[in-house]
Amino acid sequence: MTKTVHIIGAGLSGLSAAVRLANEGYQVHIHEATQNAGGRCRSYFDAATDMVIDNGNHLLLSGNVHACVYALTIGTEDKLVGPGSAQFHFADVSSGKKWLLDLGKGRFPFWLFDASKRVPDTSLRDYLRLAPLIWANTTSLVGDTITCEGTLYQRLVQPLLLAALNVDPPKGSAGLAGAIVRETLLAGGRSCRPLIAREGLSAVLVDPAVEMLKAKGATIKFGHELRQIETKDDKVSMLDFGDDTIALGAGDAVVLAVPARPASNIVLGLKAPTKFRAIVNAHFRYDPPQGLPDLTGVVGGLIEWLFAFPNRLSITISDADRLVDTPREELAGVIWRDIAKVAGFGEAVAEGPLPPWQIVRERRATFEATPEQNALRPGPVTEWKNLFLAGDWTDTGLPSTIEGSIRSGDRAADLVLMR
Ligand SMILES: Cc1cc2nc3c(=O)[nH]c(=O)nc-3n(C[C@H](O)[C@H](O)[C@H](O)COP(=O)(O)OP(=O)(O)OC[C@H]3O[C@@H](n4cnc5c(N)ncnc54)[C@H](O)[C@@H]3O)c2cc1C
Repeated sequence: MTKTVHIIGAGLSGLSAAVRLANEGYQVHIHEATQNAGGRCRSYFDAATDMVIDNGNHLLLSGNVHACVYALTIGTEDKLVGPGSAQFHFADVSSGKKWLLDLGKGRFPFWLFDASKRVPDTSLRDYLRLAPLIWANTTSLVGDTITCEGTLYQRLVQPLLLAALNVDPPKGSAGLAGAIVRETLLAGGRSCRPLIAREGLSAVLVDPAVEMLKAKGATIKFGHELRQIETKDDKVSMLDFGDDTIALGAGDAVVLAVPARPASNIVLGLKAPTKFRAIVNAHFRYDPPQGLPDLTGVVGGLIEWLFAFPNRLSITISDADRLVDTPREELAGVIWRDIAKVAGFGEAVAEGPLPPWQIVRERRATFEATPEQNALRPGPVTEWKNLFLAGDWTDTGLPSTIEGSIRSGDRAADLVLMR
């Protein structure tokens, strides 16, 4: 008899659970509150720039195993593109200095012993001082675990941890920072290749999954927001969508793959993170100059990462609550001037009229990756035997990331399979 699973939420955690269960022969029904799949990782047409943009620039690393296997399963692994080895271009907009961090391709970090491959003006000893992060526990702060100052911190550790944690690193969870370091830097260059979905997040990570699911007989219903659940004995017995309800059969399972806030409204008494941080992205319709790397880490200015897409220059600013009320035009101007410095545009372009632009401010981009909020993350199992949780905010051992999200979906699917 075909087993049925209802997946609530079509973000990457819901889609990865759905793909895994559909491949195991489950009848999968996805219920998504909005009109689109992808959640916080999606593309859409933007009228201001007259192009399809991503809600946020997303960076993956080749060591993000669950994300890479998911892409392989939906047939898009070759569309996650990046340099052949773990190379990161950096620019300091305050000094004009540029450098290339080259971690190579292998497991052993030979680059640490070669001054030309390290961050300029850093020594081997500076890197060894980061070791306490590797075994830091989840209750410690980054600021109490390593020294958050000096050249290596400013040029590498701060940009890396800020992007991963989305909080000012000293206030972030050392345990979560350590997980990132263990799974990437410590695993060597082969795990650190930067990968981006150059054709767009939806084209690479979302739409092919939806197509594959449909081909396997799965259903996906948009504008279908789960409002509440009814329970009987130790199981969820009914899904209530407001206008309609679905009664669950004895063997049916539910994967709740929605963000922390709606999850807490649906599962009463659920422990979940309560604080979130913004990320600001800006997109400019402008051809990248020849030679500009696909990705540049930026220090000394407002922008933190510059992505060069075909016909588009896009930037990311993390931990951006301070910018959510800044007038959009003012923000666009400051950002464009930073871009101009990194891309080497002359004064006329830097100070001239802005190309078509868009600013996307995701106010609740990620949960706040502090020890306090990390302690509020629940595991996937609930008191209801047929209800499992997924989402980047559940206890994945990682900060809010694509890898954490897909890992949580895989984990929830495995629990459904093990029932
Ligand atoms: C601007 C930005 C930049 C980012 N950059 C990176 C990056 O560079 N690298 C990286 O790894 N990660 C990055 N992330 C994080 C990454 O996007 C998320 O971790 C991931 O997309 C979360 O997926 P999810 O499925 O857990 O949640 P979501 O994407 O939030 O999906 C949840 C889905 O549930 C739906 N839903 C909500 N309530 C209901 C309901 N009641 N009923 C039905 N459906 C419901 C929502 O509409 C949504 O589609 C970034 C995030 C943002 C916002």
